[in-house]
Amino acid sequence: MQLHQSTWAEVDKYLEGSKGIVIPVGSTEQHGPNGLLGTDALCPEIIAKYAGDESGILVGPTFNVGIAQHHMGFSGTITLRPSTMIAAMSDWVESLRRHGFESIYWFNGHGGNIATINAAFAEIYSDGSLDIEETNAPPLKLKLKNWWELPGIMKMCEKMYPKGHGSHATPSEVSVTYYGYPDAVKHVEMAPKIAPNGPIRDAADYRRRFPDGRIGSDPSQANIEDGEKLVKASAKSLIEDFNKFCAPSG
Ligand SMILES: [Zn+2]
Repeated sequence: MQLHQSTWAEVDKYLEGSKGIVIPVGSTEQHGPNGLLGTDALCPEIIAKYAGDESGILVGPTFNVGIAQHHMGFSGTITLRPSTMIAAMSDWVESLRRHGFESIYWFNGHGGNIATINAAFAEIYSDGSLDIEETNAPPLKLKLKNWWELPGIMKMCEKMYPKGHGSHATPSEVSVTYYGYPDAVKHVEMAPKIAPNGPIRDAADYRRRFPDGRIGSDPSQANIEDGEKLVKASAKSLIEDFNKFCAPSG
């Protein structure tokens, strides 16, 4: 079930049985020569939609622009400042909370968002802790989960791509988007075959170190079949992890 494809009455009904929602969160940033700009937002979105269709879990709209300042040397990248992202996430949470949602599961596709998402959680929890009137408010639970950290997924990626998995524009994430959007498959020769590794600093430094955008990866290995396996396994793990989180002890 997807929030943006539901009516308010359907959301009312959902809330009678569950106070939990999955919000895919990602980034709009370059992903090398054959990866889509939306990769980091599309991966959690595709997996969450699959899980939502299987299980009836409610999936919210994708928070699809994140922290991507280091990719600004490549056309099409859009970034938020950390302070903007924290403010926007706070408004999303407060909006959902007003309707009765209590367990908000941020399902992330971008490593560069992790620090800011955790800072947003600290900011949002502080609002409650510092407001004496909030003492009797319903409990609020926030969770961050990176899709590649769901149980079993990283092992699967390493098995699929023993060489050139890398850390940015990886064959696994590109495969997931190719499964979701088969018309987007691109065949591009990578030179060098496996991209260099190195630290991430600002946009100019990034472009110098990683001229085609990749870090440590060979995403020409990406394909629809691997994407399908990854989406199905991730969706299964997501449903289990989300249900645990929504339980009173979660
Ligand atoms: Zn990515």
